[in-house]
Amino acid sequence: MEGLMGSYFTPAVPMDFGYNYRLGAYLERYLDGLKEKKILGVRCSGCGKVLVPPRMYCGGCRLRLEEWVELGTEGELVEFTVGHVSMSKGRLSQAEPFTIGLVRPDGAALPLLARIRGADPAALRPGMRMRAVWDPDAENEYLVLSHYEPA
Ligand SMILES: [Zn+2]
Repeated sequence: MEGLMGSYFTPAVPMDFGYNYRLGAYLERYLDGLKEKKILGVRCSGCGKVLVPPRMYCGGCRLRLEEWVELGTEGELVEFTVGHVSMSKGRLSQAEPFTIGLVRPDGAALPLLARIRGADPAALRPGMRMRAVWDPDAENEYLVLSHYEPA
């Protein structure tokens, strides 16, 4: 079938927007926590779920979230995948295989997306215990929480 999806084209989408705006108080507090090797979430007074990264409202309850809690630096591997392509400035390129995963910090309702290192992907299993590894000197403040490795 011919159509939009049948024709080949390469969209030139500028992905390199940069970050010139304030992140918002919630994300800033989360990032400040990372600098102290703390993973901070917010608990919903309606459903009791602790959300991380912290956000201002619970999507389910529509309540404003005010109660900050410190989560465990260990957690559970929920899912993972191995990437072979990386993207920089809107361009895809071949990359050394790397593993990314969803790790649910102890005490959190939802997982964080994180790099996974220190284990052969073939040895990883959902449900495995993982621990946070920190890089205080990371250039990108999100990457102060550098990655997770098996605990
Ligand atoms: Zn809620």
